[in-house]
Amino acid sequence: MKGKRIRFAVAAALLVAAVLLALDMILMPDQRLWPFAAAAAAFAAGLAAAGRILNGKKAAPAVEAKKTAPPAGAAPQAAGRPAAKPAAAAPAPAAGDAAPRPRHFPDPMEIAERKYGTAVLEALAAEDRREAAARREKLDLGPADVIGIDGWTVRVQTAPVLFSPELYMRQTEATAVPASAEDAPALRLVADGKELAVYRIEPAPGESFKGKFFHMSARIYMQGDRQHPAAMAPCIQIDGFFSDSADPAARMGSAPAYRMEAVFAGGRIAAVRREMLRGMDLVQKGLRYPGIITPGNVRYIGLCPDCGKSFAFRSYNFPMMQEYPAYSDDGMDVCGIPRGFPGAPERAVEIGGRRFWSYNAFRCPRCGAPYVDYHTYPQLMGDGVYALVHLGREVVRFPEDAKQKMYDSITARRKP
Ligand SMILES: [Zn+2]
Repeated sequence: MKGKRIRFAVAAALLVAAVLLALDMILMPDQRLWPFAAAAAAFAAGLAAAGRILNGKKAAPAVEAKKTAPPAGAAPQAAGRPAAKPAAAAPAPAAGDAAPRPRHFPDPMEIAERKYGTAVLEALAAEDRREAAARREKLDLGPADVIGIDGWTVRVQTAPVLFSPELYMRQTEATAVPASAEDAPALRLVADGKELAVYRIEPAPGESFKGKFFHMSARIYMQGDRQHPAAMAPCIQIDGFFSDSADPAARMGSAPAYRMEAVFAGGRIAAVRREMLRGMDLVQKGLRYPGIITPGNVRYIGLCPDCGKSFAFRSYNFPMMQEYPAYSDDGMDVCGIPRGFPGAPERAVEIGGRRFWSYNAFRCPRCGAPYVDYHTYPQLMGDGVYALVHLGREVVRFPEDAKQKMYDSITARRKP
């Protein structure tokens, strides 16, 4: 809006300059109006320059904006019908340098505070605590009731956690080794007597978990930091690996391992926190831990924010391969675009008749809802980003001949 107002002011100042100049030259030659006309023109030029600076600042996508724009250079994307012009999968003249991407990672708690205001969150948290106190008393809940595993069901009681958050800033853990009677066992999470999530642990093609033992661990803790005390909520994280042996001392090694998306439980603040995870990336969803390497055999089970169903996927570290991940328009596949490819990662690329773009979302395979939304949160597509691949699908390869052509053109440019 600011840009529009500035353009209007520039036009008005130019008009004043023109009128003054005309009056000076034609009608009132003895009035010496031309210095005023020059001043108005200079004012217009100054305004135009200021407008450019302001707009330049605005081009960087910020979380503060209600609807985050993709970085400058990236074409706008209409809902469901992205409009970015695909580049042919061959070296093309560079479409300008890649716009600098913001380094600031979206913080779900910060966003929650901005959206609802601290006072509202504090009121909701107080309500949660009141209900927790009543539950705790009625059911006579103690620390022993906080978390337990019963076959393929994890049960938690959030009342003791909400009642003494300081105690539960540290994790409380339960472990178990259930045997699977199915190819793809389902793990249930029940919080305060209500089913909160069902994780279907899908095997890779050709695999089966029937007769295998799942060495699992489930943790509950008060998630949050002291900067946002009102947005803190009990959080449950579950992971494990499959083994032929039920021996609790069995080691993971390279066995298939699964990490479930973390779930918030315990009332109104938990609902706000769950809502805030929509479109966020693996770190915020408790699937990856910053600064800790995730072994290659770890797979993830995500929960769709729309249909609520679970799905399995894996991640690959593309930057190690000097590539940017780009997702297909349907959000089902990912391709690595080589670093140095003209316009990457802001430009879309067409491969095998399909369009791939770094600011497309990685989507739920059941209903198509965005799961990690690089369009809403373009800052997630920063350095250190990894590619997400649905289990059973492969990374789409960037055509080798196009890659070679690109390297040849770079080498040709470097020659003296
Ligand atoms: Zn879905």
